Amino acid sequence: MNNIKIDQKLIEKLEEISDPGELMAELFRMFGERAAIGTSGQWTGVALIDMVVRAGISAPRVYTVDTLRLFPETYDLFRELEKKYNIKIEKAAPDFDAISRMVRDHGESLFFDSKAKQEYCCKIRKVDPNNKVLDTLDVWITGLRADQSNARSQTKRIDIIQHKQQDGQVRPLLKVTPLIAWIEEKVKEYVSANDIPIHKLLEMERDGWHYASLGCIICTTPIGSHETRRAGRWRWFNHQLNDDHKECGLHLTDKEKSS
Ligand code: SF4
Repeated sequence: MNNIKIDQKLIEKLEEISDPGELMAELFRMFGERAAIGTSGQWTGVALIDMVVRAGISAPRVYTVDTLRLFPETYDLFRELEKKYNIKIEKAAPDFDAISRMVRDHGESLFFDSKAKQEYCCKIRKVDPNNKVLDTLDVWITGLRADQSNARSQTKRIDIIQHKQQDGQVRPLLKVTPLIAWIEEKVKEYVSANDIPIHKLLEMERDGWHYASLGCIICTTPIGSHETRRAGRWRWFNHQLNDDHKECGLHLTDKEKSS
């Protein structure tokens, strides 16, 4: 734990750094192991790793939430990134007992039943493991972009969220989304220009169908050119939910968490 106060004054100081790589580098210099990039291995996440290494941070802390239901290609990508950048990507896994209880009470495929059960599965497999990592952080760097959905367009580049630790203590945490204002095409151009390893499924295109967003295997499908970006996630809810409601719960605002 260091003594840097997480407050509006800190945000104002950091807002003066416009370059995303420099911003992250400054955060790693200030907070060391108390800062980390959380990524699921999509376009923006791999770009962030490249940018911070180029900005002079040789071993940035990087983690992913391993729901134990990820695509094999996702693990391949993490191995490639580890090799190229000489980093170790931490895997935050769900609690085995919590999964056992969930499956015993609701079955393996509970997420098909209702939005509430999908959120419960995401809580056990994603949100709780992510929260355990946040317990060890002062700075959470994420790859959200405003163009991903209306809900995500409200995300601030640098924000303070209230993190509730496992021990019940609530404390401020800096949530930073360096590429919030970048559109997908710009991120793809950066990735391609810098020869960054990318998820093989994101490269695939067949008869106009492609993956625009990736999560767990069963809950992720490709989208057609006529569909919105998150239409492939939890597709069976498409008749009742738009992209703004296609979330796993990782990025709820403090207000949403308390409602
Ligand atoms: S994406 Fe699907 S399988 Fe993965 S945690 Fe959420 S509901 Fe469960």
